[in-house]
Amino acid sequence: MSLIVMKFGGTSVRDIERIQAAALKIEQEIKRGNKVVVVVSAMAGVTDTLISYCKSACLQYDEQEYDAVIATGEQVTSGLMALALKNIGIKARSWHGWQIKLVTDTAHSKARILRIETDELLKSIQGGTVAVIAGFQGITEKGRVTTLGRGGSDTSAVAIAIALKADRCDIYTDVDGVYTADPRIVKNSSKMHQISYEEMLELASLGAKVLQVRSVEMAMKYNMPVQVLSTFENAIGSDLMGTLVVKETNMESKVVTGITYTRDAAKITLIGVPDKIGIAAAIFTPLAAANINVDMIIQTAATPQGRTDLTFTVGKQDLERAVKVIEENADKIQYTEITCLKDVSKVSLIGIGMRSNQGVAASMFRTLAEKGINIIVIETSEITISVLIKDEYTELAVRALHAAYGLEN
Ligand code: ADP
Ligand code: ASP
Ligand code: MG
Repeated sequence: MSLIVMKFGGTSVRDIERIQAAALKIEQEIKRGNKVVVVVSAMAGVTDTLISYCKSACLQYDEQEYDAVIATGEQVTSGLMALALKNIGIKARSWHGWQIKLVTDTAHSKARILRIETDELLKSIQGGTVAVIAGFQGITEKGRVTTLGRGGSDTSAVAIAIALKADRCDIYTDVDGVYTADPRIVKNSSKMHQISYEEMLELASLGAKVLQVRSVEMAMKYNMPVQVLSTFENAIGSDLMGTLVVKETNMESKVVTGITYTRDAAKITLIGVPDKIGIAAAIFTPLAAANINVDMIIQTAATPQGRTDLTFTVGKQDLERAVKVIEENADKIQYTEITCLKDVSKVSLIGIGMRSNQGVAASMFRTLAEKGINIIVIETSEITISVLIKDEYTELAVRALHAAYGLEN
């Protein structure tokens, strides 16, 4: 007998019919002799609607109330899933974050899990009741409701699987696994049967939203096997038909395993910055203090007059705040001009095999040049290469690179 955490994403609980279909999958796992704990997301689109309500209610919305509102989507589905299970004769009860308790820090809207107090939950599970847990939400030490960031139900599921020492965490979603590129953009992308934590972490960090980054970080740290699989197919997790994210894969290691994109970035260029000690600190210290995450950074060589241009990217949602912070510190930074570009996207290649293969970057640049795509910024790590390009070329770039590295199925 295995203990399996089954997480159902927004599409899997989109309406009562889908909730009932998910309940049948839970029943099948139980009939196989497994113990099951369920984690649910909000119905598809509900979190977006709740966020829009907060934004309309108050421009400067209070983060604590924002979390109190957006956590409710998952509460509805946890109750409905428990009802659907009872309806087919399975003992079940819903659990909210505060009831378990899933304790987080106070970073509202992107809280981190501190601990999970499983005593009550375990008692209930041992009594033969299926726990249906509202994902995405937790509670601070002082009793305020928090949420774990967009896509956070994945992290709830993995954290609960770790806390309960489950054998596997199955993530049911609207695709049947992790693909070499977003299957919505690249029609002939290939499904991977296994992927290493390391590569999945890069895929998720660089745009593949199929798993929240933190869920992969946590699974990697505690060596929890995670499987991504389709909610629309008959196969259940124990059939192992999805993509398994595990420590080591037995797949032949390819140079490039996946291609991602993210449209979340915006570019800022500071022109005519003095080439002297302390200027980079003068730029990035106040940005960090304002909680603005800076991603890619590039500095051009200094002119004979001792001036350089400094380009960096921030999240699109932070662009205006970042410009304000820079302008407030203009006397220290001493730039002559600031320019911004919102319509950019970051396209990345990921592959452990890159460590021992030269020429991957060169062939990436060649492929983009052949398609007439200009590269604005380049960034590399041991197993990734990313480029910033104009947003309008995103799909063309992803498809061209997918073909160039022979990733089609
Ligand atoms: P859920 O609501 O079930 O959590 P998400 O929308 O968060 O589902 O994640 C699933 C989506 O991730 C898919 O619909 C797919 O478009 C997208 N996606 C992006 N990159 C990939 C990839 N490499 N492999 C699979 N899915 C991907
Ligand atoms: N409902 C939340 C969101 O839409 C959490 C999740 O689905 O994982 O981001
Ligand atoms: Mg998701």
